Amino acid sequence: MLLTLLSDLDDYVQSLFMLFEHYPLFKLGLFVILGALLGSHAGMLSVRLPLQIKQESQFVCHNGEKTQCQYSNNDSLTHASNDKALLSKKRSHCLNCMSLIPFYHNVPILSYIVLKGKCANCHAPISKQYLWIEMHMLVLFFCIGLLPQIGYETIAFLAITYFTVILLWIDKKHFLLPDVLTLSLLWMGLFFNLFELFVPLQDAVIGAMVGYASLWGVNKLFCIVRGYDGMGQGDMKYFAAIGACIGTHYLLLILTLSAALAIIHTLLDALFMHKKKLGTNSELESSKQYQLNINGSDNSINNKQMIAFGVYLSISFWGICFYQFLI
Ligand SMILES: [Zn+2]
Repeated sequence: MLLTLLSDLDDYVQSLFMLFEHYPLFKLGLFVILGALLGSHAGMLSVRLPLQIKQESQFVCHNGEKTQCQYSNNDSLTHASNDKALLSKKRSHCLNCMSLIPFYHNVPILSYIVLKGKCANCHAPISKQYLWIEMHMLVLFFCIGLLPQIGYETIAFLAITYFTVILLWIDKKHFLLPDVLTLSLLWMGLFFNLFELFVPLQDAVIGAMVGYASLWGVNKLFCIVRGYDGMGQGDMKYFAAIGACIGTHYLLLILTLSAALAIIHTLLDALFMHKKKLGTNSELESSKQYQLNINGSDNSINNKQMIAFGVYLSISFWGICFYQFLI
């Protein structure tokens, strides 16, 4: 019964793939719309999920009593996402006046432009992050739509893209890679490779192990030399998820690319801020603010430069996946 159902579903999907092959513009249009819609959802998650994790991390339930606990550096926090109301039940609303946003004011990208980035009810400015995430997702889906081939692996790539975009933006802003995302991506990668969409399952499992162990080892070495952790466990889990998706073959290349991107970005940032320091007093203040941010005082690690490594992992991982489709 189940096999018949799956076979029928496969026939239906294959006919859809054939339609996409005959009408590539239709495929492209559909992917762009899907990218914008998922971008809108990703924007919502990228704001609510860190808020929820931070709220929950302030309290731990101990023998039925809530006691305050400390934020444990920039690790992904394990006690995430019990409050489903915050994530799924509550519809999109303005964070300022809390009024619900009607669907016609919730059209990805267009609504932001039409409303000039302000809430229609209270006119409070809406974070540009929503717009950037929607455009980011749309552009990546557009690129995937340009690929000539179409198959289950393309659909898997779309799903992976969705995760890389959310993880990139959350890590960029909060130095956080939530377990609910990294571990979901890990299991999803193993599931995809159960059908060998990217690599054989054996390679995917080893990839996950090597991914986690390699960054864990690098961090241990760093800890011995410098006396404190160099990266959070979120990075290790994210790299394990990448290994589960893409296997062992490209792991070293992804790590090297990510490190190179991080170094280049940090150097350019430092150069830019150094020039700013030579400017006016007001510019000097913003420079101090920058130092405050990169020193991570917000996340309780003082005097240690923090880099959102998940950002560079996302870029390198997506780039390598795309390259795999091109060759
Ligand atoms: Zn409002």
